[in-house]
Amino acid sequence: MQVFNTVADVRNQIKEWRKQGLTVGLVPTMGYLHEGHQSLMAQAKQQNDKVIVSVFVNPIQFGPNEDLANYPRDLDRDILACQNMGVDMIFCPPASEMYDPHFSSFVDVTGITEQLCGKRRPGHFKGVCTVVTKLFNITQPDRAYFGQKDAQQLAVIKQMVNDLNIPIVIVGCPIIREADGLAKSSRNSYLSTQERNAALCLYQAITLTKSLLQQGERQSDKLINAMKTVIEQQPLATIDYIKITDFNTLKSVKHIEQSVLIALAVFIGNTRLIDNFVFTLPE
Ligand code: AMP
Repeated sequence: MQVFNTVADVRNQIKEWRKQGLTVGLVPTMGYLHEGHQSLMAQAKQQNDKVIVSVFVNPIQFGPNEDLANYPRDLDRDILACQNMGVDMIFCPPASEMYDPHFSSFVDVTGITEQLCGKRRPGHFKGVCTVVTKLFNITQPDRAYFGQKDAQQLAVIKQMVNDLNIPIVIVGCPIIREADGLAKSSRNSYLSTQERNAALCLYQAITLTKSLLQQGERQSDKLINAMKTVIEQQPLATIDYIKITDFNTLKSVKHIEQSVLIALAVFIGNTRLIDNFVFTLPE
């Protein structure tokens, strides 16, 4: 497995692969890899001849009061995790390789970026779309892999690729969870033991909603209130949002009549966790 820090090295290697007629899959990450990331790599391995994982904590997608400085990092461990998955190349550039001092171009998807996490994190998706576009241009993959865990990010990237005619297939991959249901996340490493227990309330709220939907409940406010009740029982939890939205526009819906995204963001102590599921109406 090759570990590259520069755009030039990545491009040279990819040119060789392309000469040989090989296909390339890209898995963009911010590192501190876990089984969620590894499931994306496994999917990429199945569908491509070569797999590239990028490990880059992208400064421009963090707000001024967010956790850029503290974001967990362990490149040695990430290299081992990628090696175990049979990844062909890691691209782990320093910030200076991605953003020169005169950097001044951004990719800004409007509309769906203003919903859900976009409200709490203005500018976040502009940073994400800009870095993902750069990674796409640097690696020019056939396919790129994103987790349904970050449902809004996946929707935004699909919108961007469609709007800008970017010739890359975007593959969404299911959420990987801990044994007790907590969605795996690099940010789970911030949680104390007590907070880790409290964090389970996100999954409990999801489980309850799934069973209410199965019983036929279709009123969003009733479902949202049920989720609120579960989460508010946890003293360490503070709700950022709980939304039931149209699957495509991510705008709130009052009554469920087609596929919806049920998404929540909850602070556990100071750590903001997100989770979601997609509900499709039975035929
Ligand atoms: P991150 O390193 O958190 O930016 O995540 C990199 C990619 O891994 C994104 O496409 C995430 O959606 C995906 N990912 C993170 N956690 C999970 C998970 N628990 N299950 C599936 N995909 C995940």
